[in-house]
Amino acid sequence: MILALAGGVGGARLARGLAAILPADGLTVAVNTGDDFEHLGLLVCPDIDTVCYTLAGINNTAQGWGLEGESWSFMDALGKLGGEAWFNLGDRDLATHVLRTAMIGRHDLSEITALLAARMGIVHRIVPMSDQRVRTIVDTDEGALPFQHYFVRRRAEPRFRGIGFEGIDEARPSAGLLAAIDDPALEAIILCPSNPVLSITPILALPGLRDRLTGRKVPIVAVSPFIGGRAIKGPAAKIMDEIGIATTPAGLAAYFNGLLDGIVIDRTDAGEVAGGVALHVTDTLMRDIDDQRRLAMETLAFARSLG
Ligand code: GDP
Ligand code: CA
Repeated sequence: MILALAGGVGGARLARGLAAILPADGLTVAVNTGDDFEHLGLLVCPDIDTVCYTLAGINNTAQGWGLEGESWSFMDALGKLGGEAWFNLGDRDLATHVLRTAMIGRHDLSEITALLAARMGIVHRIVPMSDQRVRTIVDTDEGALPFQHYFVRRRAEPRFRGIGFEGIDEARPSAGLLAAIDDPALEAIILCPSNPVLSITPILALPGLRDRLTGRKVPIVAVSPFIGGRAIKGPAAKIMDEIGIATTPAGLAAYFNGLLDGIVIDRTDAGEVAGGVALHVTDTLMRDIDDQRRLAMETLAFARSLG
């Protein structure tokens, strides 16, 4: 059994590789919900949707988010009516948000996620990090911004100064996440190549979670989201720079502060890490399912070798 912690795009890519090589009961993907927000009356969970769409093979690979074959009539009409059009919601994507919003309250986010994932044909367990509402707030040189206002509306341009998670003190890890940690068959915990600050830190910030992960005494391995010290996409490297942490294996190990037993890094990032963190060097760019599967296999073999 493998537990993977994931954000959106980078997390989903590795999760899809893991799903391709592990049986249905052999993988739980616990997904960041700090990016979730209420928009136009809808509950939008961008990272859960990215992971589900990617595992279902219906994600838009060219665009990097959302669904393939998407159309934008709703956004066109919304814009013409003077509605808030800074956050793109495709016509097909909208169905996910409408259904989820219709169910929330009667069902918790874990149940809704399981139901939607099953209807998309996903057999592996996708669980939100928490069923309680947690909202990432980014502290910037323009002030404190709710996550999507920082990330989408302001395109992550403001200088990053820190991060906080509204609701985190009252939040608990979801039952599915806890069940994965406590599963006697758990072999390893994998931090997917997601944005360390925006996507992984909210999960680790859940009360007690970090101790439960380390207390489990299985290898904890991260796959670096950096290639040649840069992010494939998004502000991960910019943010690391703004908080003064290098986008190197050593920087990543330092950022996670003793959590990691190993890091999978790209050939372009070979380096040294002190403090007993092992490195596995390979090609970490996942262009297609073959790359995803190969990187997942190498990551599993590496993690098992540390067990
Ligand atoms: P978001 O929530 O959609 O922003 O996505 P994540 O936080 O899950 O992932 C963003 C990170 O994924 C970026 O820092 C990218 O560098 C990383 N990433 C995207 N694709 C790949 C890939 O193919 N390989 C690796 N190693 N990292 C990737
Ligand atoms: Ca995200």
